[in-house]
Amino acid sequence: MDFPIIDLLDEETCIAWLMEYFHPDGLACPHCRAPYTESRFFRVNSGSGLEVYRCRRCDGVYHLYSGTVFEGSQLTPTHVVLLLRGVLQGQSSAQLAREIGLTEKTVLKWRHRLQANAERLQPEAPLPDLETESDEMFQNAGEKRCGTLRSG
Ligand SMILES: [Zn+2]
Repeated sequence: MDFPIIDLLDEETCIAWLMEYFHPDGLACPHCRAPYTESRFFRVNSGSGLEVYRCRRCDGVYHLYSGTVFEGSQLTPTHVVLLLRGVLQGQSSAQLAREIGLTEKTVLKWRHRLQANAERLQPEAPLPDLETESDEMFQNAGEKRCGTLRSG
């Protein structure tokens, strides 16, 4: 069953949520790392509706999606939140597309980009034990680390 969820979400709340996850240390100029407080409002992006800022130090422009996989996209913050949620929860591309009002092709494109990005961020170091149960990798990951800290 499809839900008209896109109409029920508040844009400002989506922006605040994305800001917290995309820029946990605060929004900053991606060109010179000057903090957001050293920028001025420049314009509103006509596609995404995001506010674009111009850095007072280097004159570079940036916004909420700068430095993320969504940089350059015209998706609204609500679309991004629902796209992330749907992909992470394993929702089908067809259903997700219907619920958020994008084409299935667009949803698939973002699903592939998000999966490639997640794969790129996987650690490259092999697991320390030669024999590791697959469920152990997820369920006991925290416990082993705590044990190591206590013994040291
Ligand atoms: Zn700058």
